[in-house]
Amino acid sequence: SNPVNSTTLVDGSFLTAKSLAKFGVDHMFGVVGIPVTSLANRAVSLGIRFIGFHNEQSAGYAASSYGYLTGRPGVLLTVSGPGCVHGLAGLSNAMANAWPMILISGSCDQKDFGRGDFQELDQIAAVKPFSKFSVKAKDVREIPTCVAQVLDWAISGRPGGCYLDIPSDVLHHTVSESEAEHLLVEAKNSRKRSDIASVPIPNIQEVVSLLRHAQRPLIVCGKGAAYARAEGALKKLVENTGIPFLPTPMGKGLLPDTHELAATAARSLAIGKCDVALVVGARLNWLLHFGEPPKWSKDVKFILVDVSEEEIELRKPYLGLVGDAKGVLELLNKEIKDDPFCLGKSHPWVEAISYKAKENVAKMEAQLAKDVVPFNFLTPMRIIRDAILALGSPAPLLVSEGANTMDVGRAVLIQTEPRTRLDAGTWGTMGVGLGYCIAAAVACPGRLVVAVEGDSGFGFSAMEVETLVRYQLPVVVIVFNNGGVYGGDRRSPEEIDGPYKHDPAPTSFVPGAGYHILIEAFGGKGYLVGTPEELKAALSESFSAQKPAVINVTIDPYAGAESGRLQHKN
Ligand code: ADP
Repeated sequence: SNPVNSTTLVDGSFLTAKSLAKFGVDHMFGVVGIPVTSLANRAVSLGIRFIGFHNEQSAGYAASSYGYLTGRPGVLLTVSGPGCVHGLAGLSNAMANAWPMILISGSCDQKDFGRGDFQELDQIAAVKPFSKFSVKAKDVREIPTCVAQVLDWAISGRPGGCYLDIPSDVLHHTVSESEAEHLLVEAKNSRKRSDIASVPIPNIQEVVSLLRHAQRPLIVCGKGAAYARAEGALKKLVENTGIPFLPTPMGKGLLPDTHELAATAARSLAIGKCDVALVVGARLNWLLHFGEPPKWSKDVKFILVDVSEEEIELRKPYLGLVGDAKGVLELLNKEIKDDPFCLGKSHPWVEAISYKAKENVAKMEAQLAKDVVPFNFLTPMRIIRDAILALGSPAPLLVSEGANTMDVGRAVLIQTEPRTRLDAGTWGTMGVGLGYCIAAAVACPGRLVVAVEGDSGFGFSAMEVETLVRYQLPVVVIVFNNGGVYGGDRRSPEEIDGPYKHDPAPTSFVPGAGYHILIEAFGGKGYLVGTPEELKAALSESFSAQKPAVINVTIDPYAGAESGRLQHKN
């Protein structure tokens, strides 16, 4: 390599790229423009893969899910002002889901701030509600430390979004190469170590005793456990104790959905009747009905395992264990090993759950077995499920969004491996699909990515199919096309009046939209399907091609329900 030169100058763009590369960043997502184009080019020249998007919103969703999938902060790069604002979508999504991500935005020249400069915005103030830490590099010399800080903050404690602001003058200022090297070493030495897992757990024996003496224990596992890569420890705990488990939507796959102790298909019974619930890396928020009656029994004793002490304080569980999910489960396993217990298949609780799950699965299978044409949601979902299962291991990564499409997909599609499901998540974010697909493809090379989306969810970022084609990513996007948000026009006659009564309904899109043609405009492969045979052929061809494809599935516009399963909220 070149000897470090004390007279050669490097600028802020280079120093930022160099800091990112030195501190382990290998991918960036974003949209270039003033003043960050040179930063992106520098990053590429230093070995970082830059994935250029059409819109910062999608790029931000990509960065957030990249953080979840890899355990390392996903990085979003945007221009100043409006670029930063578009990026807030991804940053807020990272915060809501507790995923590590950093947003780096250029900002206007410091000396012109406050005088109406090009794309002027107080970006530090704008990101405040959506980030756990933010910092502005006010001088080129501050860059390496600022980069180290945002990267460290994003993964420390509860993961989340962080923001780095770099004004355009700072990107253009220079220091000597030797000073740059010195600054990088200094920043590296100042990095804080991640301290999770080292917190002592005083009440581990109490937890084991509670589980041991419970009549109807349940283990609930969420995406925090998936993030912590706790699947091995979880498997051991479940199989050694014989306690049934219930995954949250993105916790699906930590243990296979097909596991005999999976309570997924007996969810209402499991949460309604359990007397002790060990909740690992999942919040008792809306997705888990706040842990309250009538869904949960009023006497249930919660044991929460979470890396965030505030989370445990908020929920006031019977017992709380602050720590890394994997570390805590390993401690539990160790404690149990000395005096093992196992419920066994004939335990009344295990039997009740298994019986109910089998009954519900059989009911669902009877519905799924029918070939309904024009398609309802179930028939194509079954065909997709079977095509995915036929691929075996490594299982493809599944991306799912849309109201009915996601609800039906969650019930029908089967996850057999951890971190293989990305959906609208804690924030119920629609429009994440293409960003998640792109992140999944680059974060997990060699694996197929399959998106199963509603036409409305797809439409938020449909232009990113060009990004799929440009980078030749192995992504098959299956669009459930029912012509609108929730499908056809469901208004009652008295709701249709006024001067714009001849406009399409607020929920409607162009009927029969040719989404498959969209990807062909860029050289990808499109399929239009409306029958089981057509869908099977398209899946088989696109899954083996491992190339960008869109399968436009015509669905009966009146097949779904408004707001999916959240009708009470609309
Ligand atoms: P889900 O949507 O699957 O229910 P949530 O996002 O609500 O999951 O909850 C995930 C929880 O996991 C968060 O409260 C977060 O603080 C926690 N968490 C994140 N990382 C870890 C970790 N390494 N160990 C334990 N808990 C973690």
